[in-house]
Amino acid sequence: MVMEQAFATLAIHADEAQARLQTKDVAAPLSVSTIFRYPPPPGESYDDTPENLAPNVYSRESQPNRDRVETLIGNLEGGHAVTYSSGLAAVHAALVHFRPERVAVRQCYFGTQANFTLFNKIRVLEKIDVDDEFKKGDLVWIESPINPTGEIHDISHYAQKARKAGAVLIVDGTFAPPPLQYPMRLGAHIVFHSATKYLGGHSDLLGGVLIVPTESEATELREDRSVLGNTMGSMETWLLLRSVRTLEIRINRQSQTATALVAWLNRGVKSSVPVDGIPANAIHSLRHVSVQKTSFDKVAQMPGGFGPVFAILLTSRRAAELVAHRLKCFVHATSLGGVESTIEWRLLSDPDTDERLLRASVGLEDLEDLKQDWRQALCSAMETIEKEKGTN
Ligand SMILES: *Cc1c(COP(=O)(O)O)cnc(C)c1O
Repeated sequence: MVMEQAFATLAIHADEAQARLQTKDVAAPLSVSTIFRYPPPPGESYDDTPENLAPNVYSRESQPNRDRVETLIGNLEGGHAVTYSSGLAAVHAALVHFRPERVAVRQCYFGTQANFTLFNKIRVLEKIDVDDEFKKGDLVWIESPINPTGEIHDISHYAQKARKAGAVLIVDGTFAPPPLQYPMRLGAHIVFHSATKYLGGHSDLLGGVLIVPTESEATELREDRSVLGNTMGSMETWLLLRSVRTLEIRINRQSQTATALVAWLNRGVKSSVPVDGIPANAIHSLRHVSVQKTSFDKVAQMPGGFGPVFAILLTSRRAAELVAHRLKCFVHATSLGGVESTIEWRLLSDPDTDERLLRASVGLEDLEDLKQDWRQALCSAMETIEKEKGTN
């Protein structure tokens, strides 16, 4: 698809022609109807209905808000979007679509891994590593940036390797939606997003998206979806349509704030003296693409900026537990991508993670307030730990 207008403009107007066939309303009306009137028979008409009205029959198949949000997201990513009831519903839809015998995957969201494992109830799905040899028909699943560290894989490298072997590359770009990165331009066949995160952006909807290169492949996926029944709810679809309008301004700000915050926190790493209010001996290390050493050009892969998720390792398990609780702007909760910053002591949702690791998702709060939040949380946690040492 030729992108004639800039991202921010497309996010507001790309679905306008379609909207005109539905309504005169400027803001999309929330459509909750599951059923739509059939068109009149030849020679008959509905007096009150424009003749060019877009046809919808039953909302499992299509409905007005979904058509618009798919047009919008497809335009933004440079492909054709198909939405699902959650990210994991979209993972399953991709497995049904490609019917791979093997999936090549390394680090990724544990729910995605569980989805691959569950597929074995239907048919054997062998897991291989992304650096193993691929063969025709393999599905290669690359998550970049990676959950929970925000570090990245070399998308171009795996795209070339997959193409050579006749394998299909899907990139889970949840942690860096456009305009931060465009995996299709780097050779990915499909882009996946958990729309629950930055696309939705307000911690109030569940959704998933697959973006494919052709309308015919999107049509196939939509036909499958009609039968699988894993469609996004009407309310969620409407919320997503509303949210994508502001994606550019949200994600750019979140990316910039996160990168600045990581650089600032990084000054306190392994420091035996306090630095700008960051207490001594509190931070072990930081993980984020901005501090990741790569053998490839990371800025070329993420031309719009780095993702808003980073991981911070503190110097003890107790420090991680306390800081997660004592941060105020960063809400201690799982998931990410909302307007509010979130922090998760990762051990609570993933028992295999380093017990000192906190995963942060940066929201839309002011950078200086976020720094101050880290100062107070780190200082008070370190004081508590000192006191606890004294009483033991
Ligand atoms: C959350 C998430 C998913 C799963 O999406 P849901 O909408 O929760 O089903 C997949 N991949 C990544 C990277 C995620 O963060």
